[in-house]
Order: sequence, then C-alpha cells, then structure tokens
Amino acid sequence: MQQHIDKYDFKGKKAIVRVDFNVPLDVNSKITDDSRIRAAIPTLKKVLNGGGSLILMSHLGRPKCVTEVFSLKHVIYRLEELLGTKVQFAPDCQKAGVQAAELKPGEVLLLENLRFYEEEQCKPYNLPKDAPAEEKKAAKAAIKERQKDFVKTLASYADCYINDAFGTAHRAHASTALIAKYFPNDKMFGYIMEKEIAAIDKVMKYAEHPVTAIIGGAKISTKIGVIKNLFDIVDNMIVGGGMAYTFIKALGGKIGDSLCEDDQLDLAKDILQQAKAKNVKFYLTKEAVIANAYSNEAEARVCKSDDIPDGWQSMDVAPSSLDEWEKVILSSQTILWNGPVGVFEMPNFAKGTTRIAEILARATQNGAYSLVGGGDSVAAITNLGFADKVSYLSTGGGSMLEYLEGFDLPAIKAIRE
Ligand code: AMP
Repeated sequence: MQQHIDKYDFKGKKAIVRVDFNVPLDVNSKITDDSRIRAAIPTLKKVLNGGGSLILMSHLGRPKCVTEVFSLKHVIYRLEELLGTKVQFAPDCQKAGVQAAELKPGEVLLLENLRFYEEEQCKPYNLPKDAPAEEKKAAKAAIKERQKDFVKTLASYADCYINDAFGTAHRAHASTALIAKYFPNDKMFGYIMEKEIAAIDKVMKYAEHPVTAIIGGAKISTKIGVIKNLFDIVDNMIVGGGMAYTFIKALGGKIGDSLCEDDQLDLAKDILQQAKAKNVKFYLTKEAVIANAYSNEAEARVCKSDDIPDGWQSMDVAPSSLDEWEKVILSSQTILWNGPVGVFEMPNFAKGTTRIAEILARATQNGAYSLVGGGDSVAAITNLGFADKVSYLSTGGGSMLEYLEGFDLPAIKAIRE
C-alpha cells in the first residue's frame, strides 16, 4: 500500500531514496547546475527531521563501466552544504550493507552511481552495437537474472522506499521501479514526484477550459503520441517549430528547405483529420521567419509559411502568427507548453520562443494555469527570469512526455499498485 510522505512516521527508520543527482559537471568535475540537488532537499529534510536516516541512490551520466568521471562523490560537498550535515559515501552501491546498518537517525549515506552496474538498467555494456540480436537477448537475460540480487541488496539496506526522481520515472529500472515490491507497505513518492504528478494531472484530468497546448520542437515523430492523446483534453492545439512544416507540406504547402519528415506526411494528414473530428482548433504558423541558411547570420525575412522558396528555410514564427496565437493563449484557462517554436539557440531566431514565454507569464498573471515542460522550453523560461511567473516548470522531459501520452509510468505504477 502506498504511503504519503507527510503522514509517514520516519522515527528510527532507514529510508532509501531514489534521487536524481544527475547533475552537469565541468571538466574539473565541478557541478555547473545544482538545481536537481536543491530540488531534492525538502524530501530529504522531511526524513531527517522526522527522526529517520537516509540512504541515497542515483545515477550520474551514462557510464559503461566504473569511472571516476561519473562518480557521485562529486556531489557530496554540495549536498553537505545544502543539507547542513555530513554525508557518508559508499564507494560500491552493492557493498554498503555494513555502512547502512550502522546509520543512526539524522545520518546520511550516499551510494555510488547505480549505473556502474549493468543491473540497474538491465543493459549490456560490453556488447558492440551491431552484435547479433540473439547475443543481445542472451546478454540481457543473464543481466535480468543477476538484477534480482542487485535489487534485493539495495532493498536490504532500508525500512522504507521513497522515489523522488521524476526524470527517470518512465524507466522500469532496478532503483526506480523494481525495488518498490520489497516495501509493500512502506513505499511513497517524494515531494518532487508528488508535485510533478499533481501538475500534469491538473492539465490531463482536472483542466479548466479552454485548454490550449503549444507543441514545438524539431520533429513530429517524437511528439505524435502526445498530440494525439491531448486531442481528448484540449480545445486549441498550437503547433510551432520545425515540426509544423511536415503538417504544412501535408496540406499541400511549399516549404522550401524547411525541416520535414517525409515519412510522416500521411500521419500528419491523419492528425489534422482527427483534430477536426474531435473539434480541436489546430493552429499552424501562417507566416514564418525564413533564412537562406541554417545560421544566426543568415539573411532573413518574413514569408507565407506555405510558400517558402527553395534555398530558404523556416527558422521562427513570424510576429503576425504570434499575434494570432497570443489571443488564443490569453483566452485560455489552462495552458501546456512543450518545445521551442523556432531555432531558439540562435539569438536572431529566438524571438518567437521568447514571446511565447512572455505570453505564458502574462496569461498566468491573469489567472490561467500554465505548465511548461521539455528542456528547451524550461530553459527559455528560466533564461528570461520567468521561472516563477508560470504555474509549474516540469523537470522530467521524457517522463513528462510519456505521461502526457497517457502511459502509466513504471515508477508511478510501482508505488501505487
Ligand atoms: P525537440 O528536441 O524535438 O523538442 O526540438 C528542439 C529543437 O527544435 C531545438 O533545437 C530547435 O532549434 C529546433 N527547432 C525549432 N524550430 C525549428 C525550425 N523551424 N527549424 C529547425 N529546427 C527548429
């Protein structure tokens, strides 16, 4: 049975917490952005203040063997600063039994990178990419067998399990999902997970209408599932970014050298029909900022987005289309934004994405609920200093997308069932 972190009695208990300490490091192994560690602190303090002790487990990067570069010891110092207490370190996540057993209330033990073991993800590290399928299957099966002991060992360290790593919630890994079964009556979400789930549910289950989704980014193939699933929820669907041009071409438009997934044209047509059938107003950019090269310094001009000359490509949404979208967004009660509407990495083509961020802030100030997800959109909002001007910034890109697609995330299921 699932417990709630606010109601659970941590007194004298050892809590094993799956955190997301997958922080960016510079060449000197210094943390360049500690927001993931900071975000975990409320959950960790809750356990410590309640008289419990902590065993923390996380991954860092994508190691394929034990390597200093991806050692979690690089986060100890910052974690100690933020928690205001000493953090012990277990240099092997599978050999921490003695250290865990000796933990006293208020003490913290950080386990070394879970992904130093193939068992965490059940992923063979030493097979070449082009290995025969049979060989891959056999290797995976062997790891899966070993994974049972791996999970059991981690579970043996603690009395209760908390998952607070939303970023990996869409993966059925040892520490994110499999471990939960060892704590049938002592498993719960941490505050990050609670907040992320509540924020997405506010859009997916309890949205106030009108609901508008703004979906951008490079490719429709990665967002098809989200777009389709959102048709049951939204009144307006605004599609921007490179992916809009597959739709525009599917409608017979001339898109020049703009990004296009030709193998998705039929699907794009099908989606446009579904939108009609479900009474969703579908907005594509009518005018685009186009450039004669994929470069910030390229010559640029505004043009009808279905009449782009060869040798030119769309790079951003034109102000006239943003004016139209602004009206739609400002008349909405619930707004979801995922993905940049232009090549926002280039300052000359970031204006559309910046303006979306500004409109969202204004809509929120007017009382709408706004949820922003995806690394690029979150970065755009944060860089503008608008992080606290929208209702919620989701930190789990892949997890959020899968949740929006309507999938049961393994980590959520493991706690709830
Ligand atoms: P995604 O990872 O699918 O969310 O796509 C993000 C990427 O889409 C960013 O790197 C943007 O530069 C890119 N993007 C957005 N609009 C366009 C466009 N009109 N043409 C090419 N790339 C774009």
